[in-house]
Amino acid sequence: MSSYDNDNIFAKILRGEIPCDKVYEDDHVLAFNDISPQAPVHVLVIPKGSYTDIADFGANAPVEEVAAFHKAIALIAREKDLKDSGFRTIANAGVNGGQEVPHFHVHILGGKALGPMLRSSEAA
Ligand code: AMP
Repeated sequence: MSSYDNDNIFAKILRGEIPCDKVYEDDHVLAFNDISPQAPVHVLVIPKGSYTDIADFGANAPVEEVAAFHKAIALIAREKDLKDSGFRTIANAGVNGGQEVPHFHVHILGGKALGPMLRSSEAA
């Protein structure tokens, strides 16, 4: 696993150096609208701690931070009215996962039928 890059764009958002369209914040978590939404609802949820990806977060974050992260996802899904209609969460990791920003984040996507997770041509 590569080391954490303090100059990544989400680290800058957390430091207040660049703005974000905030959806939710607590002691451990910040959530904001994706700048390039792929669905009517597209929220990014990030921990305030410095973790490169979901594996780093799961291995190294304190349990309070892990719990707060999942609680925040549930709360945002409820507040965005996604709970009954359904939604998708995605955590891209590393090169094969197509991760662009090396600060762990979960995408919450919803507000329309999202179709299959991967198109069959991309599955294998
Ligand atoms: P990933 O490919 O999982 O690393 O996703 C990174 C996401 O961050 C993409 O969906 C981008 O549109 C989004 N993104 C990049 N810069 C910003 C920004 N300044 N504010 C909000 N979302 C951003």
